[in-house]
This record gives sequence, C-alpha cells and structure tokens, in this order.
Amino acid sequence: MGSPLVVRQRSRLVAGNWKMHGSRASNRALLEALAGQLDRRSTVEVAVCPPYPYLEQVSALLAGTPIASGAQNISEHAQGAYTGEVSAAMIKEFGCRYSIVGHSERRQLFGESDAQVAAKFAAARAAGITPILCVGETLEEREAGRTEEVVERQLGTILKKIDFGNAVLAYEPVWAIGTGRNATPEQAQAVHAFLRARLSPDVRILYGGSVKASNAAAIFAMPDVDGGLIGGASLVVKEFLEIVRTAQ
Ligand code: PEP
Repeated sequence: MGSPLVVRQRSRLVAGNWKMHGSRASNRALLEALAGQLDRRSTVEVAVCPPYPYLEQVSALLAGTPIASGAQNISEHAQGAYTGEVSAAMIKEFGCRYSIVGHSERRQLFGESDAQVAAKFAAARAAGITPILCVGETLEEREAGRTEEVVERQLGTILKKIDFGNAVLAYEPVWAIGTGRNATPEQAQAVHAFLRARLSPDVRILYGGSVKASNAAAIFAMPDVDGGLIGGASLVVKEFLEIVRTAQ
C-alpha cells in the first residue's frame, strides 16, 4: 500500500510589501500587469501592501481581481490626537484585508517595541483587519544562538494579550531582509516549526527575506512554510508572478 495522502489544510499566501516605493503611474502599470497575467486557477492568495496614499488607487485597480490589499503598518490607537498616524478602521475603509504589523524596519528604524506591536496587532483584529505579524532575529542574535528566544518573546508578547485568531505570522530574519542573503530552507523550516508549535496548526506562517523567483521553490517546499512576504521582488512583475506560481 502507498503512503497516505497528505492534505495541506492551510491555503498559501504571497504578500508583497512595496515599502516606500511607487507612484500613481508605476502602481497602475504593476497592478495591471499582475492582474492580467495572474493564473486565475491558482489557489494561492495574493496581496499587495502599498504606501497609505495609494490605498484608494490600489483598491480601485484591484476591484474584480483576486488580489487583496493591505497596509504596511497601522496605529495602535483607534482614533484621537496622534498626528501622522493611520488607524486600522481607516485602512479598512479603503478595502484592506491585511496590515503588516511589527516589520523589522518599524522595530529597528522607528523604535517599535514588542508591547507596541502587540497593541497594533490587537487594534487590527478589533477593526477586522488581518494582521501579518513579523518576527525575526538580527544577525548578532542568530550568531549568539538566540533565534528561538527572540522570536518566542516577540510572538509571546502578542499571545499573552490576545488570541492569535486567523492572523498570519511572517518569519523574517532581519539579516535576510533586503540584503540578498536569505535563510537556507532548513533554517527557515526550523524556525517555522518552532513557531508553529506555539500556535494553532492552521495558522499560516510566511517566510520573508530576499525571496526571489530563483530561491522561492526550495523555501516553499518546506512543510511549515505557507508562502512568502516579499519586499524588493514584489515590485518586479515577472519575479512576483513567478514567486506566486512557485507557491502553488
Ligand atoms: C520585507 O520587506 O518584508 C522583505 C522580506 O524584503 P526583501 O524581500 O526585499 O528582503
């Protein structure tokens, strides 16, 4: 008798983090090409996360396509005197399904603490936005053998405060983001399995960090990798579409 059929319960997600890139003209060109060339039979969920000012344009361009939109960050507050901040309810009005929360650039460049990230996560859930929570260690932390301790603390701060629900987790080793250096599939799998053990088995865990068309297949082949959070390569139609195809 052959081995039993393994049925994957978790749907795959490939989300593009555009960071602070884009213009009305380039967004249109990118999204028209993506929507036009995306295989409609694909079961991989695709999302793009543009800068705030483009959310309305992006949501209009994505209407009638299977591509979802998300923000890159949200405020931990629901409303009030917080100059420059944008709430989860506001992005919801622009059709966002997701918001990235706790991206390492927010943690490192803007000083976001674990507690603040947990509050943002809760604010997203309260507004009906699905958070894509980023966790990951720095190179120094990895070399000191502290990877598990760091990601456990980052995730644990959330779990102490709120149920993870249908949120998405993204493991993004800081040393692999935008550096061209990516974790080996085995390194990614080890951390994903460690994180999965702390969550319900149906939570989707994405890998992020210099994923490209050329390395996606090996990473996505790992049993606990459910897709990717893609930075630089999400701005290049051919690369992003190939990553999505690979996730199938
Ligand atoms: C990211 O910004 O989340 C990311 C993974 O970036 P890159 O793919 O460019 O490393």
